[in-house]
Amino acid sequence: MQFGKSYSSDRSEFSLMSTRRQVITGAIGALAGSVASPAFAASEPQPQGEWKTPPNWFDKPMRWAQLVFTEDDPGNYDKNFWLDYFRRTHSDAACLAGGGYMAFYPTKIPLHYRSRFLGDRDTFGDLVQGCRELGMYVVARTDPHAAHDSLAKAHPDWIAVDASGNPRRHWANPALWVSCALGPMNFEFMTEVTKELVRMYGVDGVFSNRWAGSGQCYCVHCRENFKVYSGFELPRTKDPLDPARRAYLEWHEKRLFDLWKLWDSEIRAINPNARFIPNSGGGALSELDMCTVGEMADILFADRQARRGVMPPWGNGKNAKEYRAGMGQKPIGGIFSIGIEEPYRWKDSVQRPEEIQLWAIDGIANGLRPWFAKFNGKPYDHRWLKPVEDLYDWHYQNEYYLRNTESLARVAVVFSQQTARYYGGEQASEKVENHIKGFYQALVESRVPFEMVHDRKLDSASIDRFKTLVLPNVACLSEAQCWQLVQYVKRGGSIVATYETSLYDEWGKRRENFGLSELFGARFEGAIDLRMQNSYVHLEPPHPLLNGFSGTTRIINGVSRVHTASVGGETAPLTLIPSYPDLPMEDVYPRVPHTNIPAVHLNEFGSGRVVYFPWDIDRTFWEVLAGDHLTLLRNAVLWATNEEPPVRMSGPGVVDLAVWRQKDSLTVHLVNLTNPMMMKGPVREIIPLSGQLVRIRIPGESKVKAVHLLVAGSSADYKVAGKYLEVRVPSIAMHEVVAVDLV
Ligand SMILES: [Zn+2]
Repeated sequence: MQFGKSYSSDRSEFSLMSTRRQVITGAIGALAGSVASPAFAASEPQPQGEWKTPPNWFDKPMRWAQLVFTEDDPGNYDKNFWLDYFRRTHSDAACLAGGGYMAFYPTKIPLHYRSRFLGDRDTFGDLVQGCRELGMYVVARTDPHAAHDSLAKAHPDWIAVDASGNPRRHWANPALWVSCALGPMNFEFMTEVTKELVRMYGVDGVFSNRWAGSGQCYCVHCRENFKVYSGFELPRTKDPLDPARRAYLEWHEKRLFDLWKLWDSEIRAINPNARFIPNSGGGALSELDMCTVGEMADILFADRQARRGVMPPWGNGKNAKEYRAGMGQKPIGGIFSIGIEEPYRWKDSVQRPEEIQLWAIDGIANGLRPWFAKFNGKPYDHRWLKPVEDLYDWHYQNEYYLRNTESLARVAVVFSQQTARYYGGEQASEKVENHIKGFYQALVESRVPFEMVHDRKLDSASIDRFKTLVLPNVACLSEAQCWQLVQYVKRGGSIVATYETSLYDEWGKRRENFGLSELFGARFEGAIDLRMQNSYVHLEPPHPLLNGFSGTTRIINGVSRVHTASVGGETAPLTLIPSYPDLPMEDVYPRVPHTNIPAVHLNEFGSGRVVYFPWDIDRTFWEVLAGDHLTLLRNAVLWATNEEPPVRMSGPGVVDLAVWRQKDSLTVHLVNLTNPMMMKGPVREIIPLSGQLVRIRIPGESKVKAVHLLVAGSSADYKVAGKYLEVRVPSIAMHEVVAVDLV
């Protein structure tokens, strides 16, 4: 195959201001290259002096910096060190600690505790001024979740109360109290703090951390307000089917949205272009409805700062997809920490450079704007500074190609907060999120670019851009949602669903039959096996679902299964081999070698295709990571989608793949996750991938003008064949971005 260089044409259009730095080694060096473009002036400096927040400023900043002071920072930290760092990182927005639990400015509000080191200083105001002189947007950070004795003595009713009726001491600092988020502490006191910060400093927004409470509160205000709202006493159970618990979940959410609206309206009354920015949001397990969040917020940030437990680096990109499902193309950022995020909370720690960068890069690849979070203005460990600076500099130089207008993915994974709430309850991580994670991992390994979709956004405007929707145990679906999915398939969409999808209504009540029975071509037979031991699935070829299986007639089953029967009575390419003893070894042979019990239901419905696995293949994959399950999940998505993907990539390794449109270009992000410790996430060394071939479908009537590799900082070898562009990527260290200029 011949690849011709064609980058030389129109090269003059690129302001090659980017300096090709000397390549060091490994990750940091890999970030050195760049292809700059005229549009990177997007972060144009604001005039100094009197700052006026421009309308719709939210989309302007691309790189965020956060500094949260510790009490002893005033008078002891080096302001100019930070301003210089903000300048060198081309950070165009900052989030700085203002007040709430502790004030770093001369507040006039009674009981607003000032840092003991503040004296006559205005530490917050001085840094705001310095940022303004750099042309940065500034958001004040507040945190109302804790209170000192002085405040608790004056207003004992502002303190959170536990189920036994005792005021709550702070879990991490027992000298303090936990405040109630739903009472006067937030609705009155923090409203005054918020107004004062906007009035005194003209900040562009107020970002509140831990504003939504720290567990259920039983204080007098919560008791009375809930009684007025619902007629119930506060629930003592977490059972989501309990009427009081269900009312509580609704009331709790409404109360937080009321608080958001109050703060936002008070901010806008002083500075009409400023906003309240809650530190909230997420996927299925999020406590606030992400559709409402997406309607209310003009800008939002995902606060998942680093890996914790088992969390591959795609964990950060997943945030982007979840937020976008509610927010659309509104700007979203990803808050990343420079330290270790485990339950022991070593807040002054520093990860290895490659790990900091990889986490942030996977977010960037999936559409997050980076936001580094640093606590304490007197850093002990300086090893993070250069890696973050290098990454931000690369981001700045390539900003033109990072202002995405739409994802070109054709597959989307549906997530359902109502399923997590009313079906998952306290086991939502296991029963809901682990299905999503399993499918997510399978799609990453399969190099299928994909988005995520909120189950309350199943209207045609939201989902018709996808060919296939994946429903990983989306158990709770209303009649209306089921109808939307049926219509989607009738319009030509396809579905891959698993386990108990649609077997419950939107409040978690089990149905007699699947809400999607018609689509599945299957009916519920009334029983669920929660724990199968040593069960298998018999393969009945030929079928595209079984591609890649040779040398066996059976593979392992999952752990749980729904009893189903085929409505049409067709034979399935997968059938159940029931459990049989796994000990003593002499007894380990199948008592029933063959059944007609389907382990998959396939249905063609108009031009749409439906694959339904009546078992927990995705959850089991997350737990066991069996290659056979990966093959089945991949084949299911490929068969259902039944079209040429927007991008194909061949070559070794695990790569998180994302494909984007910008105004006049298209990008394919390739994030190299290949790492023997990928699932836990530490990075000891970067293992480069060589010989990757990327085949991109050229959108619409566009023509390819030039192709660049944004990390290598070079033009690319490519050729156009019909509607496809083939690009050779000789080597990927941590990541590469193929950028295609289109005309
Ligand atoms: Zn309360």
